[in-house]
Amino acid sequence: MSKVKTKEKLGFQTEVKQLLNLMIHSLYSNKEIFLRELISNASDAADKLRFESLSNAKLLEDQPELKISISCNSKKNEVTISDNGIGMSRKELIENLGTIAKSGTAEFLSKRTGDEKKDAQLIGQFGVGFYSAFIVADKVTVETRRAGKKASNGCRWNSDGQGEFTVEDIEKSDRGTKIILHLKPSESEYSDRLRLENLIKKYSDHIAFPVDLFDETDKEKETKVINSATALWNRPRKEVSDEEYKEFYKHIAHDFADPVHWSHNRVEGKREYTSLLYIPSRAPFDLWNREAPKGLKLYVKRVFIMDEAEQFLPLYLRFIKGVIDSSDLPLNISRELLQKNPEIDAIKSALTKRVLSMLAKLASKEEAEDKSIYENLWNEFGQVIKEGFVEDPKNIENLTKLLRFSSSKTQSNQQIRSVQNYVDDIKKDQDKIYYLLADSYQAAKSNPHLEQLQKQGIEVLFFTDRIDPWMAEHLKEFDGKEFQDVGRGDFSLPKADEKDQDAVNKRHKSFIAKLEENLKDRVEKINVSQRLVESAACVVPGDNDLPPQMKRMLEASGQNLPETKPILEINMKHDLMKKLNKLEDEAAFSDLASTILDHALLSDGEQLQNPADYVKRISNLLINSLDAKSSAKKKTKKKVAKKQGKKK
Ligand code: ADP
Repeated sequence: MSKVKTKEKLGFQTEVKQLLNLMIHSLYSNKEIFLRELISNASDAADKLRFESLSNAKLLEDQPELKISISCNSKKNEVTISDNGIGMSRKELIENLGTIAKSGTAEFLSKRTGDEKKDAQLIGQFGVGFYSAFIVADKVTVETRRAGKKASNGCRWNSDGQGEFTVEDIEKSDRGTKIILHLKPSESEYSDRLRLENLIKKYSDHIAFPVDLFDETDKEKETKVINSATALWNRPRKEVSDEEYKEFYKHIAHDFADPVHWSHNRVEGKREYTSLLYIPSRAPFDLWNREAPKGLKLYVKRVFIMDEAEQFLPLYLRFIKGVIDSSDLPLNISRELLQKNPEIDAIKSALTKRVLSMLAKLASKEEAEDKSIYENLWNEFGQVIKEGFVEDPKNIENLTKLLRFSSSKTQSNQQIRSVQNYVDDIKKDQDKIYYLLADSYQAAKSNPHLEQLQKQGIEVLFFTDRIDPWMAEHLKEFDGKEFQDVGRGDFSLPKADEKDQDAVNKRHKSFIAKLEENLKDRVEKINVSQRLVESAACVVPGDNDLPPQMKRMLEASGQNLPETKPILEINMKHDLMKKLNKLEDEAAFSDLASTILDHALLSDGEQLQNPADYVKRISNLLINSLDAKSSAKKKTKKKVAKKQGKKK
């Protein structure tokens, strides 16, 4: 005997309530998308059943033809979307239509602004799915039965979208899911047959199952199949319109916005597969979440196998959406088997090349009619693409072409330049590409390391993203020119008049020795700088030391790094150094030397180890300078008085 549960009333998860609220108030201008979302779910359910039936043919019962049916009733102001797909059990129904499983949802939804335009964008990033039914309906009924279960295992879900829903067991003879939308009086247009027919054509022509439409109020009219019902990626490229490609993207990516670009290809020969890859126009909200879904939709000989097949693209291209349909893989392929299959590695490598060349196309200025397209892409995905330098050393040359940076020549961090731009504008005889690691554009712009280069008119690229120190480790050369970190001690200036460091140091031997004596606990050594113009001093990491940006981040993530000391570079042409050199008072010398080092560290973005000590020293210096000023004033006053006295 099967247990019959009575009707139960349940509350939506808080996130669902927030989502519903956001959706109903923000998507008023694009209401019709509910139909796309519901047909998309129905198509997924049919895909899942077809896959499960591969190992259990009984699931298809006596209805092997999978399809989606829409019926409308303008008298009742209702529209119904039915599928004979996988269906849901009572437990699944409660879970799927009462909660949102995506991690990071709460945090994401908390970003609501109240500004409807912005919120509509926000929600577009999220993919609203089933809950979009409540944009047009004031009550939604779902009746469902899982494939292969008895008719008595059906279940009904009901809600007005206000915070609660009910579930109860029902008899349901046909398997799958039926969603009945009791439309709001203001949305009666969606119960009109013609309106629906147009919408199905517009949004769901790419769906691989037949979608038919039936008007309950006009029994004379026959049910008719509206869409073309062939998998879009199996159609020849020439026969698919841009609009269809875009709609298909929205179906698989759960995105509202159009993709920026796509690439549709059939590969024949040793390996046979079709791929359709899309570059989205913006990053999903969970791009940085490790557990966020990523990967392509995998089909084998047109049968859906799985969502989020991660093995076909490297992690740094996780923002790419699309479909891969292989003719060679076995239908019973599992995630585990995918990991071990050498065929997959070959496809992955080919798809990676394809994506990189799509990106390169958008990036190259000849092709991009609109420069902002790639700039936007770079803002959205640049940081992720940079992970490729560590993950995919084989493609470093192609990846380097995609890079964009602000530089000592740009007016802000919004203005970006490619490495190619840099090379195009390079100075004659310059054989290196100079870059500076810094925490921000502002910090880079005022960094003392730039001074000599700027004086010579040499451009320096600013590497200011968190990932840049790691990327820089792998950057080797571009167009035959080596990359060179100008923040390092061993970096050499492009001008040929640079001198041997030891020889330069020798000229100031006793001063350096005195400084070193004072600062020996805090610096590895002291060099006379050849790169400073306006600043008195700067620090550079020791020859075997990590870049400071990388060190700071590793330390912030809790790693214990061995204690290291920087090299202090001093500018002997600077007044401060000249005066310090002549200073005889030992205590004052020591205070000043420490303060100069502190300032060099600060302008490099470091934190002082002993800020209180620094503040004390500066206060003393200020007092001394004020004392000196007022005594100078007194002296002049006395002099003036004397002079005036004489005159009298
Ligand atoms: P998403 O489709 O993005 O997962 P939805 O809110 O649209 O989110 O749906 C939540 C879940 O409900 C789906 O993942 C699916 O498991 C289930 N579901 C929705 N519609 C159907 C349907 N027609 N048939 C079977 N299951 C469905």
